[in-house]
Amino acid sequence: MARVLVGVKRVIDYAVKVRVKPDKTGVVTEGVKHSMNPFDEIAVEEAIRLKEKKIASEIIAVSCGPPQAQEVLRTALAMGVDKAIHVDVAGPEYETLQPLHVSKILAKIAQNEKVDIVIVGKQAIDDDCNQTAQMTAGILGWAQATFCSKIEKGDQELTVTREVDGGLETVKCKLPTVISADLRLNEPRYATLPNIMKAKKKPLQKITPKDLGVDTSPRVQILSVEDPPTRQAGTIVPDVDTLISRLKESGHIQ
Ligand code: AMP
Repeated sequence: MARVLVGVKRVIDYAVKVRVKPDKTGVVTEGVKHSMNPFDEIAVEEAIRLKEKKIASEIIAVSCGPPQAQEVLRTALAMGVDKAIHVDVAGPEYETLQPLHVSKILAKIAQNEKVDIVIVGKQAIDDDCNQTAQMTAGILGWAQATFCSKIEKGDQELTVTREVDGGLETVKCKLPTVISADLRLNEPRYATLPNIMKAKKKPLQKITPKDLGVDTSPRVQILSVEDPPTRQAGTIVPDVDTLISRLKESGHIQ
């Protein structure tokens, strides 16, 4: 049976209207509701389903971030993950933490914990990078199946359906492998109150990137973060003829 590692990131909740800091160095995070990255909830759910189908034996969740990252790890434990690892990265070090750093951390833990399957979300909704699965697989030299919408167990491999432009691609991949979860893979369960209570007793280990020998020094510098341009107000025209003449006047049509 396979051992599974799942990456869970704490991000600003998807329903929050994000505000840019006045000095344009980033976005306001203080006092803002955070949650588990939605694609990571899907990754956790899939890991649990693999365990329920007796394909997986143990599930480990990892989150790299400030102390509050432990909140999303507790949620993962309450959903059904067996143990959690908090990789403590806070303050300025966290602000410049890039998918490459996270990938090195995940790869190291995957080796230390002797896992066979790494499942991450297809992207974190805060930075929209969509890089971690691909780089983790690259660093480990493992097979990768990204944007996954279905996982089936074969003899010695997994058959994964991937969401590609305009269709679905089905690939067979040998273990060990890295998978990234797309939206349609499953519908994540909610953590029930008894399971939230039980999760408090499950193991949560705290380590640092240094413990893993991973250098988190910044490789990119954020020059500026800006709001998207505000849209100009539209005008209402009385009929199609007026619309066509306006479009001609503005040069949009001839
Ligand atoms: P990204 O490449 O940043 O869009 O992230 C893709 C996926 O990698 C996320 O959905 C998570 O599963 C995982 N990931 C990214 N950042 C972190 C983090 N700080 N801690 C744990 N997992 C992460």
